[in-house]
Amino acid sequence: MSPQTHSTRQLIDWDRQYLWHPFTPMKPWCEDKDILIIARGEREFLFDTEGRRYIDGTSSIWCNVHGHCVPELDSAVKAQLDQIAHSSLLGLGNIPSILLAKRLVELVHACGLALDKVFYSDDGSTAVEVACKMAYQYWRNVASPTPGSDTRTRFIALGNAYHGDTLGAVSLGGIPIFHAAFKSLCFPVDFVSPPTQPDSLAQIERLLKANPHAYAGIIVEPLVLGAGGMIIYPPEILGQLRALADRYRTLLIFDEVMTGFGRTGTMFAAEQGRVTPDLLCLSKGLTAGYMPLGVTLTTRKIFDAFYADPRVNPEKTFFHGHTFTGHPLACAVALASLDLFDQTHLLVHVQRMSAILAKTLEKARKYPYVGDVRHLGLIGAIELVADKTSRTPFPSAWRVGGALCTKMRSLNLLMRPLADVIVIMPPLAIREENMRHLCDGVLNSLQWLPEIVAQKTREFPT
Ligand SMILES: *Cc1c(COP(=O)(O)O)cnc(C)c1O
Repeated sequence: MSPQTHSTRQLIDWDRQYLWHPFTPMKPWCEDKDILIIARGEREFLFDTEGRRYIDGTSSIWCNVHGHCVPELDSAVKAQLDQIAHSSLLGLGNIPSILLAKRLVELVHACGLALDKVFYSDDGSTAVEVACKMAYQYWRNVASPTPGSDTRTRFIALGNAYHGDTLGAVSLGGIPIFHAAFKSLCFPVDFVSPPTQPDSLAQIERLLKANPHAYAGIIVEPLVLGAGGMIIYPPEILGQLRALADRYRTLLIFDEVMTGFGRTGTMFAAEQGRVTPDLLCLSKGLTAGYMPLGVTLTTRKIFDAFYADPRVNPEKTFFHGHTFTGHPLACAVALASLDLFDQTHLLVHVQRMSAILAKTLEKARKYPYVGDVRHLGLIGAIELVADKTSRTPFPSAWRVGGALCTKMRSLNLLMRPLADVIVIMPPLAIREENMRHLCDGVLNSLQWLPEIVAQKTREFPT
């Protein structure tokens, strides 16, 4: 471990002077936020620069799988580093990206998903961009030369969806506070209600019926709308989406950036619906949360639509790529992570931790100001509301969820809410005693709500 060469105070000052944080109102951050700076990690723990230890309750924003500083993963990175850190996939191959592509195709096949080709990119947003561009170009590539024959250019997405922050992903995003400001920069997308609403699928069918040649694809986060508030819907919906896409001849895209790699209790959420999408986006857990890497998997059918002699059909090539596409260090750690999934029987462990989470959430349901609890695999969500019966939300300016999570630091828990939804998403490999500590801590912290609400009422007089 390298010694820490600067004081916490110095680092905080420099952070405020030089950094602009993501998704962060910088005024309160710079004025009064108690900045916590992480210095190191150890399995499910994070340590700050003062040496305080916390449970990583959000798995470092939903991506960490086996914990931090896992010896097997660290040595995989080091071993690759001894060979080469990076070389390009443009016109060249590299060993880890080949081995990982093979491994991923074998893995999805073993999970019952008929996907055959791996396209690399850098993160979740780019995995979605790739899926979206592939779907769009697929229809161009297969269109008959008759003008106006099949001009499928539009997408259907879900209200409250989150697919990332690049502009294509923002176009497909349905969270007003994140996306509304950019909509005039975006391509047009038709949004339907999330599948928790009874008429969601009927809305999709109406769109497909009204414009049978308009749609290039339907994109969804399968089973869980993540950043939209951990909104969970039943697996049967996936089969119904597949049937609609088939009936109206459009493509189905699953954004499993968050759900992929065990988070929902199965390796992929798609398995629970026994459905193969035409395009599958993966990122967060892919490298066990060690490094940025995205992949878009697709079928041979889509791949074949791009498979052409460039002297005859130069326009059929997929002209997309990033400098660090198929990064060897990231691919090496992803391979080591898949080994660990097997060796540690991680999915079995997830089921056990999931049962502990389920009990906690049922207890949480009874607390004042808890409007709903939601649970799937190792995702827990507690929705805080001003009025339990009517489920009236708190004024968003109160930031009740944020206040509660900040207070949980005194219990050595690092949490980050989605507005007023408290999210419990530790690394999948969290040990049982720490899972219990996390769950008990969250539950106990709900007792602080009346006090927080009273304080907010004083701070924001009506
Ligand atoms: C996090 C997330 C993304 C974006 O991934 P980045 O790596 O942050 O670009 C896309 N889709 C879903 C469902 C996500 O949870």
